[in-house]
Amino acid sequence: MTGLYIHIPFCQTRCPYCDFAFVVNKTHLADRYTKAVIREFETRIKDLEPAPEWCSLYFGGGTPTAIPIQNLKQILETVQTKTALSPQVEITAEANPGNQDRFSDLKAIGINRLSLGVQALDNRALKALGRNHTAEEALSAFHDARRAGFENIGMDLIFGAPGQTVSEWRSTLQQAIQLNPEHLSVYGLTVEPETPYARQYENGNLSLPPESAQAEMYGQAIDLLSGAGYVHYEISNFARPGFASQHNLGYWEERPYVGIGLSAHSFTAGRRSWNIRGLMAYIREVEATGTAQEGEEMLKPADRDLERIMLGLRKRTGVSETLVSIPRLRPQLDRLLSDRLLEKDNGHLRLTRKGLLLADLVCAQLVKEL
Ligand code: SF4
Repeated sequence: MTGLYIHIPFCQTRCPYCDFAFVVNKTHLADRYTKAVIREFETRIKDLEPAPEWCSLYFGGGTPTAIPIQNLKQILETVQTKTALSPQVEITAEANPGNQDRFSDLKAIGINRLSLGVQALDNRALKALGRNHTAEEALSAFHDARRAGFENIGMDLIFGAPGQTVSEWRSTLQQAIQLNPEHLSVYGLTVEPETPYARQYENGNLSLPPESAQAEMYGQAIDLLSGAGYVHYEISNFARPGFASQHNLGYWEERPYVGIGLSAHSFTAGRRSWNIRGLMAYIREVEATGTAQEGEEMLKPADRDLERIMLGLRKRTGVSETLVSIPRLRPQLDRLLSDRLLEKDNGHLRLTRKGLLLADLVCAQLVKEL
């Protein structure tokens, strides 16, 4: 059960909060990049023994739909001819509103899950987030995706946009529920270093909702989405029963994955590796050598335990108590239990509602002990 991630870094505009590996105004390099991705894939699979049967394939970015669908098709055909896809394979492409003229073509090449970067359904928040689409365009993109035949659609939403109120966020959630997507991811806005937002923040020009409002927004997401029948299966993720993202579950369940493309990470046989982040540096390195790895590390047993616990705690089912039975974790776990940040549930330890809000803190407390 191995997942395959393909990174497509091209974007039409830059969102000021984003710290992903992306480039704008570079789509003239799409063909050359596609060839590099295919070459890297062909080189990398030679080292994988036995050849994997992919259980999920994920085109992420960047914005995969910013380049011609023909390019994604070439990559997909290479994957299909050179390796095997499991019969129930989930094939996701991230897409943005504004690219809906490409949805039918995406469906035709075999993409069976669409992940739409909606972020908000009110124009004030979208403007504050620097998105290049309106709420009306996001709604129509969703309907176009359904018309194109997608029966598995995920929507990404962001809460805590500059100036956003709790009631505006609530309205976004209610409209999203009305659309009835199979999957919703809700992320709190964070100001990442070296982004335009970070500079605005340092200059005092970015006014974010207070922490109490952000906590309330997250709580509203849990209540409204759970009330509408979505299963809250990971800190930020909600799905109709049977529609949890198989690809992302692979990360949280520590299943192996191979990442192809610039900045992509891989995890196979206890080894983590990552690729060069710059577009031209990636392309040139693959053209010269077939791969573009920047670094790798072999995880020590203690690191693997820690990673397993941290990833497991992200899931609402939590981690098995046996997994956290490491003696030196005991005092800290007891403290987290008595502070009601963790709770026991059916042989598992999981975050409480209070713990969900402080998940990073809980993990930091555990890391200290390992
Ligand atoms: S479209 Fe997505 S990847 Fe591109 S800049 Fe915006 S948030 Fe980042």
